[in-house]
Amino acid sequence: AAAAASTGPEDDKYEMAIRFKKEEDFSGWYTDVLLKGQMIDYYDISGCYILRPWSYSIWQTIQNWFDDEIKKLGVNDCYFPMFVSRARLEKEKDHIEGFAPEVAWVTKAGKSDLEEHIAIRPTSETVMYPAYAKWINSHRDLPLKLNQWNSVVRWEFKNPQPFLRTREFLWQEGHTAFLEKAEADKEVLDILKLYQAVYQDLLAVPVIPGKKSENEKFAGGDYTTTVEGFIPTSGRGIQGATSHHLGQNFSKMFDITVQSPVKSDDRLYVYQNSWGLSTRTIGVMVMTHGDDQGLVLPPRVALQQVVVVPVGLSKVEGKNQAIYDACLNLERELVAAGIRAKADLREGYTPGWKFNDWELQGVPLRLELGPKDIAANSTLSVRRYDNFKTPLPLADIANRVRTYLTEIQASMLARATETFDSRLKTVTNWDDIVPTLDAKNVLVLPWCEDSQCEDDIKERSKGQATHGVAEDSKAPSAGAKSLCIPFDQKRFGPFPDGEEQKCVQCGKKAKSWTLFGRSY
Ligand code: AMP
Ligand code: ZN
Repeated sequence: AAAAASTGPEDDKYEMAIRFKKEEDFSGWYTDVLLKGQMIDYYDISGCYILRPWSYSIWQTIQNWFDDEIKKLGVNDCYFPMFVSRARLEKEKDHIEGFAPEVAWVTKAGKSDLEEHIAIRPTSETVMYPAYAKWINSHRDLPLKLNQWNSVVRWEFKNPQPFLRTREFLWQEGHTAFLEKAEADKEVLDILKLYQAVYQDLLAVPVIPGKKSENEKFAGGDYTTTVEGFIPTSGRGIQGATSHHLGQNFSKMFDITVQSPVKSDDRLYVYQNSWGLSTRTIGVMVMTHGDDQGLVLPPRVALQQVVVVPVGLSKVEGKNQAIYDACLNLERELVAAGIRAKADLREGYTPGWKFNDWELQGVPLRLELGPKDIAANSTLSVRRYDNFKTPLPLADIANRVRTYLTEIQASMLARATETFDSRLKTVTNWDDIVPTLDAKNVLVLPWCEDSQCEDDIKERSKGQATHGVAEDSKAPSAGAKSLCIPFDQKRFGPFPDGEEQKCVQCGKKAKSWTLFGRSY
C-alpha cells in the first residue's frame, strides 16, 4: 500500500491538526481534540456544550448496555418532571445543604415574578420520593426499582470541563426501595459492578471500586460506593460513578412506610438506594486514550470501527474504479457481519489527508486497499491506538477484523491499567506526600478514616506546585482528598489484618489503605 506522505491543501492541514501536545497543554489539547474530533461544540452559556453524534452515539451505547443489565435486575425506566418545589427540595436537611449552592431556580415566567420559586432538579430524590410514599404501602409493593434517563442541572462554580463537569449533564439515576437493609446493601454493589463494567469493558478505562469517606459521601445518604478513575496526564483522580445507600433517611423525611409483617400496627420505614452514571464517562475515556493525533476510540463504543481507504490511486481519470469497487465490497462484507465499517471514497483528498482525518476522529482500525493489496488478496491494517501495521488476508476478512477489534479493545484496557497501577504509590511518611503528588501519582495511605484528619490532609498538602494542571488554574492549588477506600485492601499489602499501622497524618491507629489524590 502507498505511504502516507502526501497531505491536502495547506489550510486544511492547519485546520485539522491538534494545536497542543497532550503532555504540554493538557486542557488546550482536551478541548481541541473534542472540537476537531467532532465530539462537542461550544454553546453560548458557560458550562454547557453541544453533544454531536460522534459522542452522543457513545452515550447511547452505554445507555443500551446498562439499561439491558438493570432490566435483568428488575429495574424499570420511568420519567419524572425536571422541576421541584422548594418545600420538597428542602425536606431532607443534609441533602439540601449539600446541593443548595448549585441549585438553579426558575423565578420568572415571561414578565411576571413567580410567587413560588421552582428549582430545577440537581438529582431527583426529592422529586420522586413523595410519589414513592404514595405507591408504597404494603410489603407487597416492595422492592420498588425505578430508573430514569434524563439530564440534571448543577450550577457548579468550579472550572467547567466538557463531559467531566458541566452545568447540565446527561445521566441515569436509579432509585430503589427495599424492606430489608441487606437487600439494599446487595444492590448497591450489584450496580457498582455494572459501573465498573461500563468503564472497563465498554470504554477500556480502569477504575478502582471502593467506599467514599464520610466527607466525600453523598449528601443525605448513609454511605457511598464509587468507581474511581485516574487521569495520568494530570495525575488527578476522578469519581467515575456512584452507588449510594440512603438508609432510612429519606423514607423518614418523606414517610415511605409499609405495615410490619409481624406487628400490624407498626409502620416500617423502607431502605433506599440511589445510583448514577453520567456523560463524564466519555470525558474520562477521551483523556485516557487520546494522543497528539486526536481521539482514540475503543472499538466497542466507536460509532465507526473501521475505515477503508483506497490508496495507490492513478491520476488518470476512470482508472481507479476497480480500487473503489474493492473498497466498497470490503465495506459491504464487514457491514454484513455487523462491523461498523465505512469506505472513504471522497474525491479530491489524498490518502494521507484521509489518514489524518480518521486518526483525528479516533477510528480504531484503518484498512488500506490499493492495486498491490488487491493483487495479493490482502489489505494493510493500521491500529489507531499504537499505529501498528500488519497485512490481513482478505479471505474470511470479517472474522479476522472482528477478532482484531476484540484484541484492540483488550490491549487498550491493558495499557491503561498498567499506567494506572504504576501510579499508585504507597506512602507511609508524611514528607513523601507532596513530592509523590507532584509526580502525578495517587497516594495509597494508611489512614484512620477520621473526618477532621481528612481535612488536615487536604490543608497540609495544599499550596504546592501543581505541575501545570492548567484546567483548574484559577482554583487554589489543590490539596489531596480521599478518593476511596478500595474494597480490595489486600492488593496494597498485609495491613489492616496484619500488624498495627499508624495513620500517616495524625499518628492514630489506621483503619485502611485509602486512596488520596488531587482530583477533578
Ligand atoms: P452524584 O449524584 O453526585 O453521586 O453524581 C453521580 C455521578 O454523576 C458522579 O459519580 C459523577 O460521575 C457524575 N457527575 C457529578 N457531577 C457532574 C457534573 N457536573 N458533570 C458531569 N458528571 C457529573
Ligand atoms: Zn488520621
